[in-house]
Amino acid sequence: PAASPLVDIRAGFPLLSAHPERVYLDSAATSQRPQAVIDAETAFIRDSYAAVHRGSSIATGDATTAFEAARETVATFVGAAPAEIVWTENATDALNVVALGMSDASLGLGGDRFALEAGDEILITEAEHHANLIPWQRLVARTGATLRWVPVDEHGEWSIDDLAAAVGSRTRVVAFAHVSNVTGSIAPVADVAAIARRAGALTVLDACQSVPHQSIDFHALGVDFAAFSSHKMLGPTGIGALWGRTELLDELPPARTGGSTITTVTMEKTEFLPAPQRFEAGTQPVSQAVGFAAAADFLTELGHDAILEHEERMTELLVDAVVSTPGVTLVGPRPGRRRASLASFIVDGVHAHDVGQFLDDRGITVRTGHHCAQPLHRRLGVAATARASAYVYTTADDVEQLRLALAEVRAFFGADR
Ligand code: PMP
Repeated sequence: PAASPLVDIRAGFPLLSAHPERVYLDSAATSQRPQAVIDAETAFIRDSYAAVHRGSSIATGDATTAFEAARETVATFVGAAPAEIVWTENATDALNVVALGMSDASLGLGGDRFALEAGDEILITEAEHHANLIPWQRLVARTGATLRWVPVDEHGEWSIDDLAAAVGSRTRVVAFAHVSNVTGSIAPVADVAAIARRAGALTVLDACQSVPHQSIDFHALGVDFAAFSSHKMLGPTGIGALWGRTELLDELPPARTGGSTITTVTMEKTEFLPAPQRFEAGTQPVSQAVGFAAAADFLTELGHDAILEHEERMTELLVDAVVSTPGVTLVGPRPGRRRASLASFIVDGVHAHDVGQFLDDRGITVRTGHHCAQPLHRRLGVAATARASAYVYTTADDVEQLRLALAEVRAFFGADR
């Protein structure tokens, strides 16, 4: 096969190049950082760090300029305007900002279009990460609304027909993952958004596992809110983003309040700024934002086409490594169907945690467990799976190491007899 367009980039990742013997196949949990991102964040801390949006000093001005330039870069990366990007702690936090805002609206704190009452429905899927399940459980518990979900089949996939059938006149929100972190299944986002819009429901997209890997335009997809994390796309931890349509963000009550969010405060009441500032209470993650933007720049420079081509190749190799090993079962879309660059699997007769330990002893990092998706695992009939995931720096040799180790795992535990 033709060489991947990204074969030479590993040298730019200090942790990977310092340990060439290690095989890192856990990028769906968190990604490694290139020197360019580390340098951008370090240079900002060294040369320009100060509080942002406070006071009028030169230092504050420089830091604020860098902070807002970072917002613009990340916004552009997802086809958005800067005011549509709210900095959050991570994707989990971004989803909570929406659910908690709706909870506050339901208490009459503003944003009537977000207020829920008994009988209203939130629709999710059985495949969701807990980050896109528990905030909605809490919201319905507070408001008397009902949580419904689209079931998944034995492959962990849900169908658009079932989703369409579940959307009704009481549906207020449809929240779902673009890409499943367990199955790698890819949702037909634009179709779901169109169904929800016809019913007058808002769409909330968990874009955690898609934004790092593909070119995305949330406006074009037709969703209303979307959440993603910096640390899954070569950037720092401690920062993520909530994207939302401006007219929605400007009306959604801010769940967390305090300094930096207001225009006027009296002892009795507060007027809030428009988005994004109304959501960014307290001292902001300034250097993290600069690092996040550097990561977006790094990915843009690699090019979405090159990333896609590379990852499709790695996905093919990952799937092949799993399905060609006797006694190892691939989870998710059947081979031949499109999937993201991850492969979760079950080894007959060996617990996923033992598989993880065995691979770890050979220097191969994968993720084992329920991957924060217990209902999905329950439906698959297992408590845990092992997941190998690839990213821009993954090589064919990494996957070959996995294949060789997988071939031995059942014999090692006596499960082949
Ligand atoms: N949703 C999905 C699909 C994920 O894979 C993850 C991360 N495992 C999250 C949400 C939560 O992301 P974070 O931990 O960065 O908040």
